[in-house]
Amino acid sequence: MREKDRLIEGNKNYVASIKNNETKTKLAKDLISHQSPYALVITCSDSRVIPEEIFSCSLGELFVIRTAGNSVNEGELASIEYGIEHLNIKYVLVLGHTHCGAVHAAMHNEKGRFLDPVLDKIHAAINCLEDEVEASKANALFQANYIKSLFPEFDGKIESALYDIETNEVIFIEN
Ligand SMILES: [Zn+2]
Repeated sequence: MREKDRLIEGNKNYVASIKNNETKTKLAKDLISHQSPYALVITCSDSRVIPEEIFSCSLGELFVIRTAGNSVNEGELASIEYGIEHLNIKYVLVLGHTHCGAVHAAMHNEKGRFLDPVLDKIHAAINCLEDEVEASKANALFQANYIKSLFPEFDGKIESALYDIETNEVIFIEN
């Protein structure tokens, strides 16, 4: 299968890129026994939104959760709990983005077999907003506040931001 071959080839290149780089080889070795990422990022599954690239991060730096429309549900909460309570991460960022398919779907009342609960949540976040950029911001802020409400004892920071896929810039949202 062509797609699988691309993945196999891609992994070969990745292995080689680590082997051929002393710093990366050492880092990868150091990270075998432990990880201590400095931030937890919840963002969309969108193929254009790659947190490690957006924030110029390497192995072990970000604990990333990706989900349709950066919507936080049960599975994501388990990952967040692990990140802040076991890995002791003190900074959580919900990163929405422009041209988000999930936000668009929620705004246009689209349906999906497993997507409905996710879209309902995004819908609650964006309410009657008609501008997609504003809706994506509101959704990111809403998800961040939702996490805050469920981890009231968390002594770090939970913030939201918007990634603009046209300029590649991240704009942090004031709470
Ligand atoms: Zn998206």
